[in-house]
Amino acid sequence: MPDYDVIIAGAGIIGLATGLKVLERNPKAMLLIIEKESGPARHQSGHNSGVIHSGVYYKPGSLKAENCIRGYEQLTRFCKRENVKYEISGKVIVASNESELDRLDKIYERGKANGLNKIRKIRSDELKEIEPHAGGIEAIHVPYTGIVDFKAVTVKFAELIQNNGGEIKYNEKITNVLRRNASIEAVTQNRSFTSKVFINCCGLYSDEVALLTEKNLDTRIIPFRGEYYKLKPEKRHLVKNLIYPVPDPAFPFLGVHFTRQINGEVEAGPNAVLSFKKEGYTKTSFSLSDTFNTITWGGFYKIASKYYKTGVGEFYRSFSKTAFVKALQNLVPEIQYDDLTEGGAGVRAQAIDKRGNPVDDFIIHDNGAIVNVLNAPSPAATSSLAIGETISNLIINKLN
Ligand SMILES: Cc1cc2nc3c(=O)[nH]c(=O)nc-3n(C[C@H](O)[C@H](O)[C@H](O)COP(=O)(O)OP(=O)(O)OC[C@H]3O[C@@H](n4cnc5c(N)ncnc54)[C@H](O)[C@@H]3O)c2cc1C
Repeated sequence: MPDYDVIIAGAGIIGLATGLKVLERNPKAMLLIIEKESGPARHQSGHNSGVIHSGVYYKPGSLKAENCIRGYEQLTRFCKRENVKYEISGKVIVASNESELDRLDKIYERGKANGLNKIRKIRSDELKEIEPHAGGIEAIHVPYTGIVDFKAVTVKFAELIQNNGGEIKYNEKITNVLRRNASIEAVTQNRSFTSKVFINCCGLYSDEVALLTEKNLDTRIIPFRGEYYKLKPEKRHLVKNLIYPVPDPAFPFLGVHFTRQINGEVEAGPNAVLSFKKEGYTKTSFSLSDTFNTITWGGFYKIASKYYKTGVGEFYRSFSKTAFVKALQNLVPEIQYDDLTEGGAGVRAQAIDKRGNPVDDFIIHDNGAIVNVLNAPSPAATSSLAIGETISNLIINKLN
C-alpha cells in the first residue's frame, strides 16, 4: 500500500488550496504536501499585488474566467469565516487617450459577458469623484475588486490542513517522480514517499517537475519579474484604491498600476522583465540552469523576436526610475520621481508554448495518477479555491 492517498508538491496558494479541497471532499484522505522551502508562500503566493480580481478581463468560458469568478466568491467567504482581513475596494481601469477607447470597450463587454453586471463606464468627471487624482478621458469602474494579503490566506490554508489531519513536510525538494505498479513515488533529496495520486503545484518549477513524468511537454515556464515602487506615506492620498491602465491585449500582463494594500501602503507596479533566475528577486539575480532552460526552449526565440520592443522597454523601465514614473503619470499626472521609494518584487510563472505564444489560460494536465498544474499565473491567487476544487474533483475517484 502507498504511504499516502495524495501527495501535493508545492506549498504555494494552489497546492494548499488543493489540499484543503481534497480534505473537504474526503476528510479521511491521507494527504501529504511536500515543499522545498522552510514555510508556505515563499514565492509567487507571497510576492504579488494582493488584488482579489473580479474576472473582468478574461475570455468568457475560459478556465480563467470561470475559476476567477467562482474563486472570488469562495475566497471572500473564506476570509470572512476565518477572519483574514480583506476589503472590497473597487478599482478603475483608465483610458488615458483616444487610442485606448476601443480596447476599453472590449474589456467592458467581456466583463458584462462574465456576469459582472455592476461594472460601469464612466467619464472623466465621475472618475474624479472616485479617484480625484487620476487622469484619463474615460474609465470602467469595477466595484467588485478587492484587496487581501495572499500570504496570510496561504498561511491560513496550511494551518487548516494541519488541523484537519493533513501533513506538510518543509525543506524537502522533489528531485524525481516515478510511476510504480500501484503507486507514484515522489523522491526528495532526503527520502521518498509513495501515494495513489501525485499533484504538481510547483509554480515556477512546475514544468521541470512535470518533465520528470511527461516527456512531450509543449510549454515551458518563462519567469517574468515584476518590480514595485511604494508611494511615500505623505503621498498616499493621491490614490484612494486601485488605478489600472488599459492592458495591451497582446501581452499577458496588466501594465503598471497603483494598488492600495490591505496594510494601508500604496504600491506602484509591477513591470514585467524577463528574469534570469526563476526565484530571483533582484535585478542582478542569475541562475545558469534557469537561464539555460529558458534560452534552449524553442518558443523563447519566437517570443523574444515577437515582443522584442516591449521587452527592451520593460528592461529600460526596470533600470530607469524616470521611465517607470512616466508610465505612472499616465494614470496619476501629479506623481513625481521623489514620491516613490523602491518596493519589493515578485516573479511570475508564465507558460510559453512552442510557437512563442504566452499561454492565456490556466493549464491543468490530468495524466491519470499524476496531475500537473502547468500554468497558474494571475488571477490564480484569487482563483485558488476554485482551482483546488477543480483538481480535487479530478482526482477523487482515483483514490478508490
Ligand atoms: C508580481 C505578481 C503579482 C501578482 N498579482 C496577483 C494578484 O494581484 N492577484 C492574483 O490573483 N494573482 C496575482 N498573481 C499571481 C499569483 O500570485 C500566482 O498565480 C499564485 O501565487 C500561484 O500560486 P502557486 O501555488 O502556483 O505558485 P507558488 O506560490 O510559486 O508556489 C509554488 C511552490 O512550489 C514550491 N516548489 C517548486 N519546486 C519544488 C520542488 N521541486 N519540490 C518541492 N517544492 C517545490 C515552491 O517553493 C513554491 O512554494 C501575481 C503574481 C506575481 C508574481
